[in-house]
Amino acid sequence: MRNIHAEFVKYGKNAKYWLRRCEMLLPEIAKQEIWKKKRFTSIYEYAAKLAGMNHEKVNNCLRIMKHIEDKPELLQVAREKGLGAVRPVAVIATKETAKLWAEKIEVMSKHTLETYIKDYKKEGICPGADQQQEVTIKLTPKLAKKFEAFKKRADFETLLEKFMDEVETQPKPEPVKTESPYIPVAIKKYVATKTNGICAHPDCNKPAEVFHHTKRFSLNHEHNPDQITPLCKAHHDLCHLGLIANEESQPYEWQLLAFPDTTNPKYEVDQLVQAYKTG
Ligand SMILES: [Zn+2]
Ligand SMILES: [Zn+2]
Repeated sequence: MRNIHAEFVKYGKNAKYWLRRCEMLLPEIAKQEIWKKKRFTSIYEYAAKLAGMNHEKVNNCLRIMKHIEDKPELLQVAREKGLGAVRPVAVIATKETAKLWAEKIEVMSKHTLETYIKDYKKEGICPGADQQQEVTIKLTPKLAKKFEAFKKRADFETLLEKFMDEVETQPKPEPVKTESPYIPVAIKKYVATKTNGICAHPDCNKPAEVFHHTKRFSLNHEHNPDQITPLCKAHHDLCHLGLIANEESQPYEWQLLAFPDTTNPKYEVDQLVQAYKTG
């Protein structure tokens, strides 16, 4: 019996493949004005009549191609997955980083890629740790004045750090060694309270969805409140893709990596789906 659905899927896949080939020819058609030589009134008429592409599609293709035409790694991705796949990174990618972005498109979901790009724009990749950063906080007028005065002290940073370390008042549960991947409730509660249920990544305000073991559970079979951190889906993905440097330090010290450290035993674990599921 004829399988109409299977036929449709097959033809659709082929159609998309051939349309991608058309899209990638557009810059050359524009440059050589091939549309004019073939007696069309514009490249839009040419693309619409010959390949069913609308005006917006033509503009998008030309724009993205302009950004990636000197980046072979991204051209390769575009050939395989279409221009839509390289679109999020088209503007941000440089010749030097094109390989990095091509790889990221391969391994990340769209949402995780967008989060990575956002963090990348904000903090870059591994800036110097001694670089000073500006912080903005909102305080009541009275407290603001007090803070301004306090800030002038020579030992301001040391004092502030000491204060923040000591202020942690909730009692910390003991680490639990176990074969069970389920995190004890007391530990979950302790960990979630620290970030108020928000993702622990410093630049993220999304609700936390996952309790993540910064030393993978499958490697040490332990639920340690100091090594479990609440994360949103995207930042959790970035951890398991090995793209957070010093993951075992406090999240505020985390930095984005360009490529994972494949020699880290965690990297191997993260390649296994099961390990990923148990946090
Ligand atoms: Zn997050
Ligand atoms: Zn995890």
